[in-house]
Amino acid sequence: MRTDDRIMAYGGGWLDRAGELRADPDWIARRLADRASVVLPLWQDRCLVGPDRTPVRRGVADAAELLAAADETVFLGLDAGAAVFAVDLSARAEREARELAGATEAVDVRALVGGLGPAEAAIQAYARGLLHWHRGQRYCGACGAHTVAGNGGHTRSCSGSGCGKLLFPRIEPAIIVLVEAPGEPDRCLLARHRGASEDSWSTLAGFVEVGESLEDAVRREMAEEAGVTVADLAYQGSQAWPFPAGLMVGFRATAASTEVRVDGEELLEARWFTRDELRDRVARGRRLGRVDSIDRHLLGGWLAAGD
Ligand SMILES: [Zn+2]
Repeated sequence: MRTDDRIMAYGGGWLDRAGELRADPDWIARRLADRASVVLPLWQDRCLVGPDRTPVRRGVADAAELLAAADETVFLGLDAGAAVFAVDLSARAEREARELAGATEAVDVRALVGGLGPAEAAIQAYARGLLHWHRGQRYCGACGAHTVAGNGGHTRSCSGSGCGKLLFPRIEPAIIVLVEAPGEPDRCLLARHRGASEDSWSTLAGFVEVGESLEDAVRREMAEEAGVTVADLAYQGSQAWPFPAGLMVGFRATAASTEVRVDGEELLEARWFTRDELRDRVARGRRLGRVDSIDRHLLGGWLAAGD
C-alpha cells in the first residue's frame, strides 16, 4: 500500500513552516509589510469563499482592514518564498466577516475538499486547526491569567507574574485499524458506528489515552469496542485531521479469532467482509469510507493487496 501522505487529504507539507524564522517578531512584522505575502481569512472554523467556492486569499497590500479586524493573525509558512498568514474573524457576526473578506459564504473545508487542490485543502485545514487552538487557549490553565500569542502564532505564553507557562498547539492522536481475520479466506472487520447511516460500514478507530503507545491503544480499542484480540500490528500511514485537533494513525492488525462482540455504545454491529463483498458494495454505489479520510486508504490498500 502507498503511504505517501500527499495522497491523503489535509497533509503533504506544502508550506515551509520556517520554524526558526517565525520565532523572530521583527521577521514576522517585515513579512506582514511585504507585498508578496498573502492573508487567508477564516471564520469560526470555516473557510470564507468566493462565488466559485474558492477560499479568499488576499495580498497583504489589500488586507489592512482584515488584519485590523482579526482576533488573531498566525504565520502558516512560506509558499515559494512568500509568507502565508491566516486571520481569525470569529468574533465578528458571520455577515460582517463575509463582508470584510469579500466572501459570499463560510464553508467547512471538509465540504469543499473535492473541489480544492490538495495544497489549498491542506493549508485551509492547517489554518483552521491553529486558529481553533488559539480561541480555546486565551487563559492559562495553571493560573487563569491571559495568554499571549508568540512564535508567529505557534505558541502562547501566560502573562501572569511568576507563571509564564508556555502553551503549544495540542494534537490529539487517534488510531484507526483495518483488522484482518486469521486464516482463509481473507476478510476484514468493519463496523457500523452509532449515528452513522443504516448501511454505512467503516474501520475501527479510537483515541490514544495518556500513558499509552499507539500500539497499546490499538490493542485496547479493538478489545473494548469489538471484543477482538489483535496481533501483528503494522503501521500504514497517518493523516492530519485538524477538526479540531486530530492526528489519525493507521494500522493493520490480525485478529486472534473471528469471534466479535461489539460494545453497543460506539459500535452497533461489526462483521467480517471479503474483498468480493466490498467490491460488490462499490459496484452498487456504496462508498468505501469518506472520500477525504484515511479509512478509505486503509480499505483501498487492502482491496488492492488482493489483486
Ligand atoms: Zn499562568
